[in-house]
Amino acid sequence: MIFASDNWAGASQPVMDALAANNTDFAAAYGRDPLTDRVTERLGEMFERPVEVYFTATGTAANALSMAACARPGGLVLTSETAHVYCDEWGAAEFFTHGMKMVPLPTVAGKITPDGVAGVLDANPEGSRFGRPVALSLTQASECGTVYTPEEVRALTGIAASRDLVCHMDGARFANALVSLGATPAEVTWKAGIDVLSFGGTKNGCWCAEAVVVFNPDRLPDLVTHRSRSGHLFSKSRFVAAQFDGYLANDHWRELATHANAMATRLGEGLAAAGHRLAYPVEANEVFPVLDLATIARLREAGAAFYEWPEVEAGEDTSCVRLVTSFATKSEEVARFLEIAAR
Ligand SMILES: *Cc1c(COP(=O)(O)O)cnc(C)c1O
Repeated sequence: MIFASDNWAGASQPVMDALAANNTDFAAAYGRDPLTDRVTERLGEMFERPVEVYFTATGTAANALSMAACARPGGLVLTSETAHVYCDEWGAAEFFTHGMKMVPLPTVAGKITPDGVAGVLDANPEGSRFGRPVALSLTQASECGTVYTPEEVRALTGIAASRDLVCHMDGARFANALVSLGATPAEVTWKAGIDVLSFGGTKNGCWCAEAVVVFNPDRLPDLVTHRSRSGHLFSKSRFVAAQFDGYLANDHWRELATHANAMATRLGEGLAAAGHRLAYPVEANEVFPVLDLATIARLREAGAAFYEWPEVEAGEDTSCVRLVTSFATKSEEVARFLEIAAR
């Protein structure tokens, strides 16, 4: 009953098989190998336009590199108050950008609102002494397990574009969002105004594979330089490419995310049926029930792993917890968790 995070799961077998299959004797180093080219091309086909692809080892690096490539002196990055870039990355974006300021916006169920973006832009006209809005960063799926529709993304990027902001999407859980929406990768990203995407693989079946996917290279010049000088040009790039090769082939990545989402839906429905309140709707692979402390203790005693989520105000003797499912979550474990939570 491991619901602590999807990065507690191992790697999927097809991803491991792709690593082994691509363990050839020699290949050109620093991304000049055929497999890196092939994965880049496949991502271009998937997103229905040519893209630049930069592999990174972590999602933090993907986000920070994206920010570095659009950094300007005095720059402000509009993001959400719960965003990973703001709350969980130890100031990596600030470090990579020579101190661009992260501006946390209020959220509704984990999502930034058009009013929030417009409010900050109005409060910081050209020449404001606070700083210069440079980028907008959205998380898809959000930190609360909710998903922006393409229309919602477009509404936000439209306001951002009026002031020439670069629009970034943190897609650590992009696969989960995509299968939840039933949309195409293009519809959720560049067609909705996104310039650059942190495309996650690690949480959904890879073991060390994230990629910065750039739709508008003109808006992010010098990314290639930032990658090298920050130590993210892999000499054996082909092994990151191999993971993506196995991940993307035969829609494997979508299947993995579909399973994770189905497990979350089942958890959410079961907990709601047992009378537990859910803090947010279940739209991807995360569930946020408010549980009484006795239930939490019982679940932990039975071996369940999960984190409490103090961001949600709970009543006396209750606490909100975060349950994250993954491609490796077993339905029997979901059933066991629900049985204990219903007692
Ligand atoms: C997990 C996660 C990341 C990346 O985390 P790393 O530990 O740096 O790989 C980025 N954004 C979000 C929303 C995440 O959940």
